[in-house]
Amino acid sequence: MKRKVYNFSPGPALLPADVMEIAQREFLDYKGSGMSILEVSHRSGVFQEVIENAEANLRQLMAIPENYEVLFLQGGASTQFAMVPLNLMKNGKAAFWDTGRWSERAIAEAEKYGNTQVLSSSRDRNYSYVPPLDLDKVSPETDYLHITTNNTIFGTRLSQIPDSKKIPLVADMSSNILSETYQVEDFGLIYAGAQKNIGPAGMTVVIIRKDLIGSAHELCPKMLNYQTHSEKNSLYNTPPTFAIYLTGLVFKWTLDMGGVSALEVQNRKKAQLLYDFIDSSSFYSANISEPDRSWMNICFKTPDGESDLKLVGFAEEKGCMFLKGHRSVGGLRASLYNSMNLEGVEYLVEVLDEFQK
Ligand SMILES: *Cc1c(COP(=O)(O)O)cnc(C)c1O
Repeated sequence: MKRKVYNFSPGPALLPADVMEIAQREFLDYKGSGMSILEVSHRSGVFQEVIENAEANLRQLMAIPENYEVLFLQGGASTQFAMVPLNLMKNGKAAFWDTGRWSERAIAEAEKYGNTQVLSSSRDRNYSYVPPLDLDKVSPETDYLHITTNNTIFGTRLSQIPDSKKIPLVADMSSNILSETYQVEDFGLIYAGAQKNIGPAGMTVVIIRKDLIGSAHELCPKMLNYQTHSEKNSLYNTPPTFAIYLTGLVFKWTLDMGGVSALEVQNRKKAQLLYDFIDSSSFYSANISEPDRSWMNICFKTPDGESDLKLVGFAEEKGCMFLKGHRSVGGLRASLYNSMNLEGVEYLVEVLDEFQK
């Protein structure tokens, strides 16, 4: 299916057209059941197969080892900011690599439950770079080290994953999960809200090493305890069934596209194309320098705020949607998640070129 517009929204973001066509075809009558997947019990065999396939496909995509649980939860990445300390802060100590607004929020929640140590922060320059991290500063009884692998608002990406040794590494991968290869073994816990790179809003994926389950704070609400959801295979209460179904279709699509490594090649190419154009133009400039540049959220600007706004309108008329930067950064931002194809980025470059001329 050919789309009418190219959608550069930071999230909720575009989904593969092929996935939505399948969902549309199956919408009223899921695989001959006579019912929509929206209507069936989460305990039915029909849904059981949906959730099992989704998990199996994600396990294959990320090569998730057996000693990790995969959970499909609600509440967005923001609920994980609290859920992580409630479950992992046994010694009441957590360390943070503060690289953006979302790291800040994770720190603010963790502070309620124990001591937080900010190892390094780029807040001084509005998160426009990734600050160096000195792991020697981490005290040994730290319960976890929290990082944000891609900073959606500011357009930065961690080009290196810290080796935190025995301290579990917790990663917010909301805006770049499945966009590049990570070794799950390097992490104690990975979480991601689905609505950026892998599905619709309403579902959060958590990948957690099994030994980290079962030592939640005594006041931890049952719904916020990883153990509750792991014991019941994400079916303790009614899960976001339609979001799990759609995300499962995106996992299948990702496999069909050649998996994460194939998409990584395409993602690098897409980002490079846009950065190269921006760098070679005297009209546009990029906010972030190498090696900190995000492949998913490309932040840039024209010489002045007025032209930024004009460009947003001009681009929308040409079918390039949602290029306005986040209000805390200003300027422009193009989000190039997995579902954005190379043609979309080539077209965006044409439109940007036409505007500058
Ligand atoms: C969008 C985003 C969040 C917040 O996600 P919600 O699902 O809205 O809670 C957290 N972290 C990162 C990196 C994000 O991009």
